[in-house]
Amino acid sequence: MQTSDIVIIGGGIVGSSIAYHLTANGCRDVLVIERESAQGKGSTGKSMGGVRAQFSTPVSIQMSLYSIPFYASFEERLGHPCDYRPQGYLFCATNENQMSYLRTNYAQQIKMGLKDVRLLRGDEIRRMFPQLRADDIVGGSFCSTDGFVDPYSAMNGFMAWAADHGATLWKNTAVTGVTCDASEIASVETTRGPVSTRKVVNCAGAWAASVARFVGVNLPVEPLRRMLVPSEPFDEFPHTAPMIVDMSNGFHFRPEARGFLLAWNDPEETTGFKTDFDAGFIEKILTRAADRVPCFAGLPVNPKRAWAGLYEMTPDHYPILGEAPGVPGFFLANGFSGHGVMHAPATGKILSDLILTGQTDLIDSSLLNLSRFAENRLIHETAVL
Ligand SMILES: Cc1cc2nc3c(=O)[nH]c(=O)nc-3n(C[C@H](O)[C@H](O)[C@H](O)COP(=O)(O)OP(=O)(O)OC[C@H]3O[C@@H](n4cnc5c(N)ncnc54)[C@H](O)[C@@H]3O)c2cc1C
Repeated sequence: MQTSDIVIIGGGIVGSSIAYHLTANGCRDVLVIERESAQGKGSTGKSMGGVRAQFSTPVSIQMSLYSIPFYASFEERLGHPCDYRPQGYLFCATNENQMSYLRTNYAQQIKMGLKDVRLLRGDEIRRMFPQLRADDIVGGSFCSTDGFVDPYSAMNGFMAWAADHGATLWKNTAVTGVTCDASEIASVETTRGPVSTRKVVNCAGAWAASVARFVGVNLPVEPLRRMLVPSEPFDEFPHTAPMIVDMSNGFHFRPEARGFLLAWNDPEETTGFKTDFDAGFIEKILTRAADRVPCFAGLPVNPKRAWAGLYEMTPDHYPILGEAPGVPGFFLANGFSGHGVMHAPATGKILSDLILTGQTDLIDSSLLNLSRFAENRLIHETAVL
């Protein structure tokens, strides 16, 4: 029977980052199993690629403080590009409540050691981007080291480095079960035959709950459709712009190629494995786009280029990281709720630390364990995009 020290289920950006961090820490016998014919067909290939440290809670900020410098030095470390573009994130507040929320977050971010974040007055934002309708913008917050990466390149870079250093990737192979003897993991069952192993990491993205059921674990991770609309080439807004977030309704956009990528999380969306793009979304998002950026009234859009993908949502919008209670050797890296690309480097380090040494100094990992739901220790992050 094939054997492996550690089996990773799912070859998206999270599985790939964990494979990289494990091999970089000297654990070479790692097997990544991906059911699709190519990596990136899950959420990773659908992502907007935004990376930011502007969060409200210490644990999210800590994960970004590891991940963003990691992306900044990705090519130097791994010899592969990830296309990190530090163009920033600009949050635009349209009332005093939002501004006070940004001020509180700013104080927390500075306290945690974030250096490049600053608060802006409404007139400063108006001067930076006169193309915005800014009559109601009372101020904002901007961090210049936030920005975007190419998730597909980052995922490939992680996996290529890991494979060059001993890890193995099986594509076209689905994991269909996990067996235990006594209380220990014994093997994973796959469409290519069983693999004997003592350690398994669930990196199955939006499908993570079904993988957790193999070992009787009830994982509160649900798929939620998100849709993105790219524009055709458009030059009436600067391509050096950051991710700009309209806090009045959550509409946000960033430059992409010679046009712009538009996003808005429809509050009417319901959970489920829906990956079809709903044509009715175009009008909804363009209305919000033109309201905040009047020149976007003429933004050319080809609906055939728009797409939908799945967020992996948890009840508190925070990931679930660490060993599953009652199943030693079964690790979880799930439920990123829209932040799996930006937090993939930190997740790789945290999981690699927990698997190899049982602890990590990057975060207080007990905050993100699965037991928090049963113990009513949910975290509330309101800065979810
Ligand atoms: C529209 C959209 C925009 C987004 N924007 C951002 C953003 O700006 N910034 C950000 O940080 N995040 C963003 N996200 C979220 C981010 O894309 C995800 O959190 C991240 O990609 C999760 O990575 P993953 O590796 O856990 O999951 P995935 O990429 O989904 O990978 C999981 C893999 O597991 C495989 N798999 C599942 N079950 C099995 C099985 N039984 N056997 C073998 N393989 C299996 C799947 O085929 C899949 O390839 C966005 C997501 C969407 C949909």
